[in-house]
Amino acid sequence: MTTQNLFCIFIILLVLDASFEYFLEFLNFSNRKKSLPKLIKSLFSEDSIQKQRNYQKDNFKFGMWTGIPLQIITILIIAFQILPQIDKFLRFHIESEFWISASFFGIILIANQVVSIPLSAYSTFVIEERHGFNKSSLKTFILDIVKSSILGLILFSLIFSLIFWFYSYAGNMFWLYTWAFLTAFSLFMSLFYSQLIVPLFNKQTALEEGDLKNSIADFCQKVGFKLKDIYIIDSSKRSSKTNAYFTGFGSKKRIVLYDNMLEKHTNDEILAVLAHEIGHYKKHHIIIDLFTSIFTSGIQLFLLGLLMNHPQLSRLLGNEVSSFHFSLITFGLLFSFLGWILAPLSSNLSRKHEYEADKFAADNSLGKELKEALIKLNGDNLSNFNPHKLYVFFHYSHPTLIQRINRIDQIIGK
Ligand SMILES: [Zn+2]
Repeated sequence: MTTQNLFCIFIILLVLDASFEYFLEFLNFSNRKKSLPKLIKSLFSEDSIQKQRNYQKDNFKFGMWTGIPLQIITILIIAFQILPQIDKFLRFHIESEFWISASFFGIILIANQVVSIPLSAYSTFVIEERHGFNKSSLKTFILDIVKSSILGLILFSLIFSLIFWFYSYAGNMFWLYTWAFLTAFSLFMSLFYSQLIVPLFNKQTALEEGDLKNSIADFCQKVGFKLKDIYIIDSSKRSSKTNAYFTGFGSKKRIVLYDNMLEKHTNDEILAVLAHEIGHYKKHHIIIDLFTSIFTSGIQLFLLGLLMNHPQLSRLLGNEVSSFHFSLITFGLLFSFLGWILAPLSSNLSRKHEYEADKFAADNSLGKELKEALIKLNGDNLSNFNPHKLYVFFHYSHPTLIQRINRIDQIIGK
């Protein structure tokens, strides 16, 4: 097959990929007009259903008006071979292959920041503000951007330099060294994320002594779970949304609660949410997720290693010279097509884990409280009450509210 034909197929695949994504978004949005399940109508007032619909509508419109033009521009940039022009320009001015690749990624990252900062500002100060979620001041917003850009730059420089070094000196085995390094890095991050990264953006304080802490300690003892501290994160300085999560493993494991939760939920509901999080740990989900991601990145890097030195890979984007950055970007785009197979697999596994964690809470006599917490969480966060099945299949890491309530009811025999 000629390079020209391959290039055309590649562009068609990019268009199909983007079209299917927007088709799913549209399908999901249109589903709001379908009649709501009885259960939802019995749980939420007409007013909160309307609020939820307005919020979904604003987000959908924003996603469409910004996402589609950006997607078209990206495809046009590739179709009109702007990237090879940038490469040519860099090669004219820079000699070192390392600095050509680094500058190329630098330009892409800067362009990405230039586009995403105003979009993020609109989303925060217009959409989230309109629906009463935004608590972020302009100062916090700007500081977040500055801090995350500096952090991103440091991490990118470190990771990029090492991978480029492996690529230059390890030949065909470069993928294996990269895999070993990325595995070590992700293990390190999952252990130290809470201590190294989170404090740059948020304050975490240990939960104070009192009824809640006592009942959590009792619960942990009952289910044989060693936990030193529960942390409260000051999420309320950015948003009024609520959540809780589990991070780390071994002695570094910790449960983190959004501070808004303490205000909006009863102690029993918080305990039920914590039981769900402990369920994730007890059912080994944290370790399974970690190994799944190590395994998939291994396969991904192995394929990259096979294709990396194939001259066609760089030429797919219209570049005459084979190069590290072009091979990497083309491979990334090709691999994203596989996302349509991989995304449902990973979200299905994640939903299975959510059911298991819910079951753990329900089996420990917290089913009713967990249901109440989930209803409140979904209502307060204006989550989509009626997503489309196909959208859920591809994108939902958690089962829908109705699915979770029904499953908990089955367990507690209601
Ligand atoms: Zn969960």
